[in-house]
Amino acid sequence: MNDLFQSAAVQTLLRFLRSSPCSEAVSDWPGDRLTALQEAGVLRWNVPKEFGGLGLSETEMLEGYRLLASSCLTTTFILTQRNGACARIISSPNQTAQQTLLPPLVRGEQFATVGISHLTTSRRHLASPPVRVDADGDGFRLNGTIPWTTGATQADLLITGGELTDGRQLLAAVRVNQPGVRVRDPVELMALSASQTGSVELTDVPVGPDDVLHGPVEAVMRQGAGGGAGSLGTSVLAVGAAEGMLRQLEPETRARPDLNEFVLPLQQTAERIADQIHQAVSGQHSEGAKAAEIIRQQANSLVLRTAQTWLAATKGAGYVSGHPAERAVRESMFFLVWSCPQPVLTANLRELACSGATGEL
Ligand SMILES: Cc1cc2nc3c(=O)[nH]c(=O)nc-3n(C[C@H](O)[C@H](O)[C@H](O)COP(=O)(O)OP(=O)(O)OC[C@H]3O[C@@H](n4cnc5c(N)ncnc54)[C@H](O)[C@@H]3O)c2cc1C
Repeated sequence: MNDLFQSAAVQTLLRFLRSSPCSEAVSDWPGDRLTALQEAGVLRWNVPKEFGGLGLSETEMLEGYRLLASSCLTTTFILTQRNGACARIISSPNQTAQQTLLPPLVRGEQFATVGISHLTTSRRHLASPPVRVDADGDGFRLNGTIPWTTGATQADLLITGGELTDGRQLLAAVRVNQPGVRVRDPVELMALSASQTGSVELTDVPVGPDDVLHGPVEAVMRQGAGGGAGSLGTSVLAVGAAEGMLRQLEPETRARPDLNEFVLPLQQTAERIADQIHQAVSGQHSEGAKAAEIIRQQANSLVLRTAQTWLAATKGAGYVSGHPAERAVRESMFFLVWSCPQPVLTANLRELACSGATGEL
């Protein structure tokens, strides 16, 4: 494992995240946990050295996410959305935007998030795009509703986009405090409500040339780097979450060795998927381009089965509201709906329906 993850700063952070469960209340944004990430240097991991970050490799980032997700899923999920915003800025050809936007994000003075799912997955079946883009002088105007944005209530910067009438898409940096941006109250979710996820309305929001990050171009989310729907980053969160559950189940397993029959295969599967993720990053996965989807399907399956194993092991006690096992079951469901490409979901549904032996893609 990378020495960075063994450092006193990171180990202190992990102990802090594990010391008490993150609040589930929609009003309880985990600001103290994000400050702890900043103090441990985590907000610099994903940013290249030229912009003041540590420039961790993809393998290192995924290992970091796995450790963090095993400690607090809510905090790690928020971090991925913030890092998703950074990634779109980093991969942009717009150097002015990079130089203005990245430094305050790296220093933790500002928080950014993404509202991009409507460009690839959300609301794609509707006749008109959720966010419309119109040319306006040397810039553009945005109108519509971004259906999903985590932490928009706390964000200074929102990386979002929309579609022009000719079908081309644009990705831009929108300041949340600018006129025309209305962050709706975050919704109560089945789990992870403290991530303050909700919609954002845009009314005639101007986007100047310095704010355009990518496009206008067809399928703007295929531009540059930054982990799309169902990326390895989403899978590693599911693996980490499952490992966190197995760690919390350990005292029960020590007292009841009969549980080993069920727990050991889950531990081995988590290790195997983590290995596959490393192989996929280094281009050595046997399934090539299909690897990410296969891995995500297996990671979803693992986290769902692990949570239910924990619940079954803890019996009625685990079913009482507030027990970590019932919370784990609710949190595991997140992976069925978040950043989950249709082929992955179909494979998971086949597994649930037992209509394919292993729910293969
Ligand atoms: C907790 C949470 C946090 C998230 N955070 C973010 C974030 O920070 N940034 C971001 O960009 N995204 C985020 N997302 C969005 C996420 O990645 C997915 O895009 C989203 O969950 C997909 O759900 P949807 O309801 O938008 O899907 P849709 O596909 O829009 O489905 C919505 C409804 O339409 C119906 N429907 C679907 N397809 C059809 C069809 N073909 N014909 C008729 N009806 C149909 C379905 O019955 C469904 O009820 C988040 C999601 C969750 C749950």
